[in-house]
Amino acid sequence: YLQGKVAFITGATSGIGLAIAHRLAQAGARLALHGLPDAAEGDALCQELARRYDVEAAYFQADLRNAAALEAAMRRVLGDTGGVDILVNNAGMQHVSPVEAFAPEIWNDMLAVNLSAAFHTVRLCLPSMRARDWGRIINIASISGLRGRSGKSAYNATKHGLIGFTKSIALETATTGITCNAICPGWALTPIVQKQVDALAAREQLDDATATHRLISLRQPSGKLVKVEQLAAMAAFLCSADADEVRGAAWTMDGGTTAA
Ligand code: NAD
Repeated sequence: YLQGKVAFITGATSGIGLAIAHRLAQAGARLALHGLPDAAEGDALCQELARRYDVEAAYFQADLRNAAALEAAMRRVLGDTGGVDILVNNAGMQHVSPVEAFAPEIWNDMLAVNLSAAFHTVRLCLPSMRARDWGRIINIASISGLRGRSGKSAYNATKHGLIGFTKSIALETATTGITCNAICPGWALTPIVQKQVDALAAREQLDDATATHRLISLRQPSGKLVKVEQLAAMAAFLCSADADEVRGAAWTMDGGTTAA
């Protein structure tokens, strides 16, 4: 159902962004993937996805801490594809520290990557969406955009900010065929988290399921990690016609965490 649509996904070379790339390509979307790794790695990934799903896929490298680099990449995306239909702001960074010890430069980097990057991509992509009166903007926030946690001042501030931004854009586009929503994952099974599971399994001679439960059950009522494929399916649903009137939502998929 996404044939003919161009999907631009930031931070698409790993984790949730990569899962969304697979899922949207499977539905027929043409991919414009952003990433931090060099062009050789990004191009190889695009070739693999293009072959597997029989879609076009191109890579755009940019360090999102640098707004000028992002804008240059966006201009290339828009020029090469003729316009973005589906924009997924997924790239994000995390740093945990008490606020009085929080390095100001890391604070600024997190504002740039987790929040300002979405402002720039939306501002630059909206004209092509408005021209077609169709668009999907999906911002990958977090349950940290809905609740706080000590040590996560920058992450909480940027993810709460991203949800606020989502609501505002949803209202600016409310009478159009463009929707803007946020997805709020709980703990998801990305390589970073799996490594912690593997370490615990090795240390305590546990199988994968037991180690996962041990690591996550304290934090997520389900005792299970969210799968990136499940998050990608939520993103794919938001791209469907059935989700035409989902506007300004911040949907959790968190194993019950925010219900507690
Ligand atoms: P990940 O590390 O695989 O993905 C993060 C992506 O952001 C990477 O591709 C990375 O290259 C990119 N990125 C980071 N800094 C960048 C920079 N300066 N310039 C350009 N790109 C940069 O981890 P993930 O779990 O897939 O995270 C994806 C999103 O999901 C993030 O926004 C994260 O905050 C959010 N999230 C993840 C979880 C989880 O448990 N995994 C939970 C809630 C929210």
